[in-house]
Amino acid sequence: MLQRKRAKRSQETLAAHAGEIEITQAGRPLAMPLYQTTVWGFDSVEDANSIYHDPSKGWVYYRSSGPNQSAFEKAFAQMEGAEASRATGSGMAAIFTALITAAQAGDHIIAEKSIYGVTVSLFLKQLSRFGIEVTFADLSDEQAVKAALKPNTKAIFFETLGNPLVGVADLAALANLARENKLVSIVDSTFTPPTLLRPLEYGVDVVVHATTKYTNGHSDALGGILSGNKNFVKMATESAQLIGLTMSPFDAWMNVRSLKTLPLRMGAHCRNALAIAQWLEAQPQVSRVHYPGLESHARHELAQRQLPKGFGGMLAFEIKEGGAEEVQRFIKALEHIPYVPSLADVITTVNYPAMTSHRHLSLEQRNAVGVTDRLVRISAGIEDPADIIADLEQALSVL
Ligand SMILES: *Cc1c(COP(=O)(O)O)cnc(C)c1O
Repeated sequence: MLQRKRAKRSQETLAAHAGEIEITQAGRPLAMPLYQTTVWGFDSVEDANSIYHDPSKGWVYYRSSGPNQSAFEKAFAQMEGAEASRATGSGMAAIFTALITAAQAGDHIIAEKSIYGVTVSLFLKQLSRFGIEVTFADLSDEQAVKAALKPNTKAIFFETLGNPLVGVADLAALANLARENKLVSIVDSTFTPPTLLRPLEYGVDVVVHATTKYTNGHSDALGGILSGNKNFVKMATESAQLIGLTMSPFDAWMNVRSLKTLPLRMGAHCRNALAIAQWLEAQPQVSRVHYPGLESHARHELAQRQLPKGFGGMLAFEIKEGGAEEVQRFIKALEHIPYVPSLADVITTVNYPAMTSHRHLSLEQRNAVGVTDRLVRISAGIEDPADIIADLEQALSVL
């Protein structure tokens, strides 16, 4: 079709058809090509219809899906041990999609109280507008969960490792509790990609990730993914497609590229975080280190069972003396470690939760959840740990 009228075609027509190339050579691209197209062209109405009828046969329109998104979903579902996955435009979109699939107007959900601050805002400011009520509770306290249960409770939501204090959720216990009460259990496993932890193996129903963090891992693509059984993911996909919570082909392409090194990167993140945590624990300027890989962590034994391959790349510590002023002096003194209000990059970064995720809380509220003015969060990168520690050491010396 492309060749037939070529000789007579005008500049305008040629320009409009630029890029139409058929690859007929033997062999195939080693890296997956980027399908940066919003829509597909067909030779017939039936060809398009057959895909509308059975989306597993191909792609029609980008808001629904494309080859890059499908490739990422397929690879991630296999790694997560899930029947199916759906990629979304952000981590928040994955959380929102999972929640509106599990609950609707008139329903109630229970969420762990110590979770990512933006998720708290999503639940309080947006889910409430859709008529979904949320109660926050300490999910490690079974009595507190039972007290929060209502006849219309449909789901519980928690994180594998909490932010920023890296508390460890008991996945099997929470999955059981959900099953006994006919709730959908939804876990945000952003801090523990599937190479470290596969929550579905513990009986959790749905896993969400902000792929923006470790999965993509290079601070250059926003995205999310939710995984679970086929039926749940099908319902979630219908909502995500209608609302337009779609991952872009480019971000999906980036995520596929990044999955290839995810196990290697996570190994280095975990080793470095443990080395930093152990070193910090011995420093006179430091009063407390929060890392599940340390024996001093309240749930170290649970963490050892659930995270045999490593405890993740996130840790936090408290300086012994001072407050906001001293923490800011320490952060300014760092030479190679930037202050970054995100996490999971290949380079080590620091964050001050009192001024980022928890900035909307009062001092009393922050102290009550352990996010004091003295708390610094570290996202351990994949550099040589000796270099990271040297920078921390010289910066701590200003305190
Ligand atoms: C960053 C983050 C999110 C949100 O992801 P976005 O891609 O920024 O929307 C959700 N949960 C956790 C634990 C996160 O760290």
